[in-house]
Amino acid sequence: MSNQHSEHEHNEQDHGERHHGTNDRAHDQGHDHDGHDHDHGSELPEMDLRVRALESLLVEKGYVDPKALDIIIQTYESKVGPRNGARVVAKAWADPAFRDWLLRDATAAIASLGYTGRQGEHMVALENTERVHNMVVCTLCSCYPWAVLGLPPVWYKSAPYRSRAVIDPRGVLDEFGVKVAEDKELRVWDSTAEIRYLVLPQRPAGTEGWSADRLEQLVTRDSMIGTGLPLSPADAKP
Ligand code: FE
Repeated sequence: MSNQHSEHEHNEQDHGERHHGTNDRAHDQGHDHDGHDHDHGSELPEMDLRVRALESLLVEKGYVDPKALDIIIQTYESKVGPRNGARVVAKAWADPAFRDWLLRDATAAIASLGYTGRQGEHMVALENTERVHNMVVCTLCSCYPWAVLGLPPVWYKSAPYRSRAVIDPRGVLDEFGVKVAEDKELRVWDSTAEIRYLVLPQRPAGTEGWSADRLEQLVTRDSMIGTGLPLSPADAKP
């Protein structure tokens, strides 16, 4: 996998070329790449204004129906959400054949549950094990697997997370309250417009014989980004 970064190396050049290269599809899908430079300090209000200006222009010219835009945003805010991903993870925990398929071809395995579409066309599942903990970031902007996790949380898009996840992943995990054993390898994956990652967390102990429906309650959004762990059975609703 070419865009996996070990704890201490990060090739941003490589990322940038792939990320902001010739793939214009992301732009067509309302993704927030705008060719900005890397001074992220004050980009948000400006980007907000640019998005609004673009939206009014498109509406004015009759290219876009504002109602259609609202429906898309509403869908990913409330309808998709991270529960799709939780269903994928729970099924992988409960069904070894599905787990194997997910790790081999996440796009197809996830699509078999009906989760497809924007920002989820090329999915890769990363399995957490006793030896490896995976964590996902988009160092340049906010690439995120919408089809399984909905819209990204605010911190995922923040400059501190995007830079520190690569420079000091253990420090970031610490702030999220996640303790990863010192001897565990930490892998940080850089999302791009082409590839979106879903972390398959370790199945919590004490859940032997649980159904997928029951397991699903233990899967948190952050556990599928790698900045959290699944709930323990004691935390689950009865
Ligand atoms: Fe991005």
